[in-house]
Amino acid sequence: MLASLGTLPELGRQLSGLGGCTRPVRLDGHRTEYAVDRTTGEIGRVLHHLDSSALPAGQLLVRCNNRRATRCAACAETYRRDTYHLITAGLRGGKGTPERVATHPRVFATFTAPGFGPVHNHPSGGRPCRCGIRHDDQDPALGTPLDPDTYDYEAAVLWNAHAGALWQRFSIYLRREVAKRAGLTQRDFRDHARVSFAKVAEYQKRGAVHFHAVIRLDGPEGGETAPPAWATAELLTDAIRVAAAAVRVDGPEIDGRRHTFVFGRQLDVRTIRSTDFTGGQDLTERAVAAYVAKYATKGAETATGTLDRPIRFLAELAQARITEHARRMIRTAWTLGARPELADLRLRAWAHMLGFRGHFSTKSRRYSTTLGALRDARTEWRRAQAAPAVDTGQETTLVLAHWVFAGTGLSGAESWLAATLEPAPGTEGEPTA
Ligand SMILES: [Zn+2]
Ligand SMILES: [Zn+2]
Repeated sequence: MLASLGTLPELGRQLSGLGGCTRPVRLDGHRTEYAVDRTTGEIGRVLHHLDSSALPAGQLLVRCNNRRATRCAACAETYRRDTYHLITAGLRGGKGTPERVATHPRVFATFTAPGFGPVHNHPSGGRPCRCGIRHDDQDPALGTPLDPDTYDYEAAVLWNAHAGALWQRFSIYLRREVAKRAGLTQRDFRDHARVSFAKVAEYQKRGAVHFHAVIRLDGPEGGETAPPAWATAELLTDAIRVAAAAVRVDGPEIDGRRHTFVFGRQLDVRTIRSTDFTGGQDLTERAVAAYVAKYATKGAETATGTLDRPIRFLAELAQARITEHARRMIRTAWTLGARPELADLRLRAWAHMLGFRGHFSTKSRRYSTTLGALRDARTEWRRAQAAPAVDTGQETTLVLAHWVFAGTGLSGAESWLAATLEPAPGTEGEPTA
């Protein structure tokens, strides 16, 4: 370790560029940027050359970009902030989304799962739980079944596995309900308005997925166009309630039992305001963006106490430090995963997610910018910081790069050095596009 003492400051600089990522991807290879004459297309001088072997760590280190806080705290924080910007852009504009979206009807809705059996809770009014105990907020028993032997684990896991399909169908029903209220056919609806949304999945303590969604009514071209006069938050709320109550997805038949999946009766829909002048049930843009961003970085492991990575053998559960409830959810998913008729649910691969295999956060195309766009903007911004672009108007650039995967993580010495580094100023900065 000390043999490389001479290069420590350089290595420190490279590591600080990771912004605290502790599980970076390591790449071998090179990248060369050439100037190209705009008119002749001739490749000219080398503007920039990077060879991984010449780097202090001997390899290019790239942030892992894992969204889970339990896997990489620094990258999860970046993901959280990107999600915040993405949601905010869809609420008040910015980053390519027009500011006029702030005037469109917008609501924040939470969709829950139905019950699969009684669980420990704290009822309102200070009454004790059905087990007789007044659980405090930190009690790990909260959300776990009162009687695990009668709790419907099979339906609970299968519900998670169908939650994505249920949402998908809900979004179709919602358009239909909005159109109906506007007196339009579904075909005509598109010429008048669009429904845009951004949603995140969150696990409740009982291990059931629920969805939080920002839902917005736009004009026919999305955020750029004004919604029709009939488009109000009240109409949208009403349509959401009816669509959520009506939607159902037929599931498999298992041992003579036919499963169908619906949302739980608990549905919360609130109007989103630019500022909190009502002081009532409405939510502010800021509160909604912060809430969604926070849940985007949580997996099942945070709320339910399950695993943050897939299992390969059921025997791994014996070693895992997880709750008994999570263990039963995972075991149920694993067991169901052996059934050929459920193959497309891939329940073994997603057992650690308690059956849910959907994307953690999704949005409709017209909601706002994408996480990828934000990431590209940040990469471009960093590159610009490192080597100011030469733009003579005459030249454009050509980049030739070749990288091969060489592993993940940091060496012992690198981890030690990275831990001693303060986050470098600037590395966490956001592009202000
Ligand atoms: Zn990372
Ligand atoms: Zn209880």
